[in-house]
Amino acid sequence: MLRTILTAGLFVSAGAFLAAAVTADDISARAKKLHFSCIVVDTHDDTTQRFLDGRFDIGERSSSGSIDVPRMKEGGLGAISFSIWIPSKVTGPEAVNRAMAQIDAVREQVRKHPKDMVLATTAAEIREARKQGKIAALMGVEGGHMINSNLGVLRSYAALGVRYMTLTHSGNDEWADSSTDKAVHNGLTDFGKEVVREMNRLGVIVDISHVSDKTFYDALETSKAPLFASHSSCRAICDAPRNMTDQMMKDLAAKGGVVQINYHVGFLSQEFRDAEKANPEINKAISAEVTKRCGENEGCQLMEGDRITREYVEQGKLPRVDFSKIIEHIDHAVKVAGVEHVGLGSDFDGANMPYGMEDATKLPKITEALLKKGYSEGEVKKILGENTLHIMTEVERVSRELNGGK
Ligand SMILES: [Zn+2]
Repeated sequence: MLRTILTAGLFVSAGAFLAAAVTADDISARAKKLHFSCIVVDTHDDTTQRFLDGRFDIGERSSSGSIDVPRMKEGGLGAISFSIWIPSKVTGPEAVNRAMAQIDAVREQVRKHPKDMVLATTAAEIREARKQGKIAALMGVEGGHMINSNLGVLRSYAALGVRYMTLTHSGNDEWADSSTDKAVHNGLTDFGKEVVREMNRLGVIVDISHVSDKTFYDALETSKAPLFASHSSCRAICDAPRNMTDQMMKDLAAKGGVVQINYHVGFLSQEFRDAEKANPEINKAISAEVTKRCGENEGCQLMEGDRITREYVEQGKLPRVDFSKIIEHIDHAVKVAGVEHVGLGSDFDGANMPYGMEDATKLPKITEALLKKGYSEGEVKKILGENTLHIMTEVERVSRELNGGK
């Protein structure tokens, strides 16, 4: 009982603090009105890892991490795709078992909060959720290793509501090369192309975040439906191998795709990346501290990794990255790919967030910043969510066609 009372006290004070922080951000009335009239869609979020330990309840405001129902409502987040993720090194039946446990964990969180959330699998269902005043919850599988080279597993995930799959995570899988591993398949294997075709038929979006440039081009050539990058940023600004080059963004856009900008400081800021590279001991020390605090608990690791990185920034050992860097990437991607081809894929609860974008309550600042930069209200609306709803509709249309319908 004591524990419950203490926890309740913590929530109240965290809530009061956040409300004050949002007021201090001073969002203009016009930006607020526009933001809360739009369907804001985030295509990549790692909160799923927190669901697994059984203590986290998405319905209650948490003093850690970035995502829960109260903060999503406060920040006007209308739809969120929860990532089903396990490390690339976990393969075979264990990968399938763990992915299934995560799909179940997402579905259970949604089931327990029927007033606030609803599982959505189509653009129309997201719009319907909005009408009902609920947050639409979606799912994406982050890494093709989780199908264990079995199209039946892919079909089962789709049947349970998964609507995108990232072809690889940070390591190669059995049929596709990753951008952060040594190439062994020269892109997609023949089976990898079969996976892409089956995803098209199922209406599961082909996600090219994390994949090697060659895998991206193979997928682009193979796919009958537009593709997206669920959480990638611009390589021209920050030279991370899993960010997209200008040419890749142009080619993605030419086939109707969308690049969803990732908020992770190591993908946003060249200065941050250079500082990490210049002093590899820092990352080693952060990893060691994470292991000390969390052991094998992956949810804890993601959360503490962000917290400890901040501690290094506060100590002046790593550069401070401001949220305006997100706007710089959005603006660059719009200039290169066009305003119809850019969206949001935060990586909340799975990465290191910049200052000013600590959690979902800060999202209206993106709207405010884009308006200040001269974007029209219609353009902002597209970036916040309409572009994603559009690509979903297209992928659904291609799926119907491939299944013989219209
Ligand atoms: Zn990722």
